[in-house]
Amino acid sequence: MTEAALREAICEIGRRLWQMGMAPANAGNISALLNGGRVLCTPTGVSKGSMRPAELVVVDLAGTVLDGGAVSSEIGLHLTCYRQRADVGAVVHVHPPAATGFACSPRPLPVEILTEAVCLLGRVPTVPAATPGTTDVSEALQPYLPQAVAFLLANHGALTLGKDVWEAYFRMEVLEHSAQVALAALQAGGLVPIPTGMMGRLQGP
Ligand SMILES: [Zn+2]
Repeated sequence: MTEAALREAICEIGRRLWQMGMAPANAGNISALLNGGRVLCTPTGVSKGSMRPAELVVVDLAGTVLDGGAVSSEIGLHLTCYRQRADVGAVVHVHPPAATGFACSPRPLPVEILTEAVCLLGRVPTVPAATPGTTDVSEALQPYLPQAVAFLLANHGALTLGKDVWEAYFRMEVLEHSAQVALAALQAGGLVPIPTGMMGRLQGP
């Protein structure tokens, strides 16, 4: 994908996330790797529902701005993912209401009730609470990062990884959908896990 096409894709994904209520006000940030160890990231203080391609910011892996204005305050979280995992090409962080509800509760996200969640997300660890916009968030994530492609951030939101920006985005859609289904199941009478024999045949990411 060219840089111009990637800028358009990030703006389109931002619109979808905002429309689905996952990025209220100016919340959320999206990034993707460019060639040469550069990262294209959403700017700070801009609604994900109305971003323009020229507003996106290019930084290096140390977080130095190479092109554009002020970068997202959570850029450190994104750079930690790229530095620690060579298989990651894009990162999406938003505040989806149902998934964030689990991140604000004592209950982990029950992935084991839905085949789609098992196959597309695998396990979804909850990363302990850390102050947004500080290096604490990256430090809290680091021990969990090798284990999964989707994470809940306690008292905050959710984070998904992908080889490209569409994969990271679709994982966020599946994460939020899975959380909504889990809430509906709890209201309907409780969670029923996938039978063990069937679970053993499912392939995670
Ligand atoms: Zn956030």
